[in-house]
Amino acid sequence: MTHTFEVDHRSSARHPPYEIVRTPRGRVASAFEPSPNQHRALAAALRRAIKGEVRFDNGSRSLYATDASNYRQVPIGVVVPRTVDDVVETIKLCHEYGAPLVMRGGGTSLAGQGCNVAVLIDFSKYLNRILSIDVLQRMAEVEPGCVLDHLRDAAEKHRLTFGPDPSTHDHCTLGGMIGNNSCGVHSIMAGRTSDNVEKLDIVTYDGLRMTVGPTSDAEFRSIVAAGGRRAEIYQAMDELRRRYGDLIRERFPKIPRRVSGYENLNELLPENGFNIARALVGTESTCVTVLKATL
Ligand SMILES: Cc1cc2nc3c(=O)[nH]c(=O)nc-3n(C[C@H](O)[C@H](O)[C@H](O)COP(=O)(O)OP(=O)(O)OC[C@H]3O[C@@H](n4cnc5c(N)ncnc54)[C@H](O)[C@@H]3O)c2cc1C
Repeated sequence: MTHTFEVDHRSSARHPPYEIVRTPRGRVASAFEPSPNQHRALAAALRRAIKGEVRFDNGSRSLYATDASNYRQVPIGVVVPRTVDDVVETIKLCHEYGAPLVMRGGGTSLAGQGCNVAVLIDFSKYLNRILSIDVLQRMAEVEPGCVLDHLRDAAEKHRLTFGPDPSTHDHCTLGGMIGNNSCGVHSIMAGRTSDNVEKLDIVTYDGLRMTVGPTSDAEFRSIVAAGGRRAEIYQAMDELRRRYGDLIRERFPKIPRRVSGYENLNELLPENGFNIARALVGTESTCVTVLKATL
């Protein structure tokens, strides 16, 4: 299933994008410094567009400036969406204004994954429901802000569980676990989060919504034949696995806890079913935003 929203490319003339200063070699030289006017305009547009909380005040920004790491990155502003539509609308507006994004679950990341000079979307307050548990299939559908222990408590009533269990299990969210490819002590038996992800509903920064998972050859051909942005993305990933497949097979370390970020490119290989969902696990909200997970 795919949905897109219209991006008004003319709008960048109305809202000049946030400026990024780069070194001659292309690295970001300074933090994004939106002007107070850009701040206010984006906050006002968000307040008009969504039902959730738009918190661009200094107190909220400072509350979300840290996670469990040593980093402090003051966000441009904080959005606490009430609905999936709020998330999609927020991303649409951030794209329109050129504002970067960072997602937030429980904020227990140890290496600064959950903070940035960006618009921060907090899933934990409202988008935290278990949508279904299919006992026969041993599968659950959750919103990204669902706390791991809430899912485990519900699953245990059916003598089921979710194996990966970081020691922050009573606070960390499934969205955050997907962002970090979290493990925990039982992952030795049950695998990492990526090994337990079946499908993801995602949205890209430019507004493409899709459900991703393993992709058969027939599915790939039909996606390409349909054309458009989705086809472009799938073709780019196909090209990536063709170009680097042998290097990935040869050089990716074969260790049970390979969780170094972008570590799941091997999931794109044909022998692993061209699994886009699992390849995205561990990308720390830098590639897509997860709207729903099937685990
Ligand atoms: C004391 C302590 C012990 C820990 N022990 C372990 C351990 O045993 N094993 C382990 O693996 N980790 C451990 N961690 C690290 C951390 O708790 C886990 O990685 C946890 O799963 C993160 O979940 P969170 O909800 O707090 O995610 P956050 O920190 O909020 O986010 C993590 C990443 O996911 C991204 N993200 C969040 N939601 C979404 C979304 N909807 N779409 C896309 N990306 C999203 C964020 O942008 C971020 O990059 C520990 C941390 C602490 C402080």
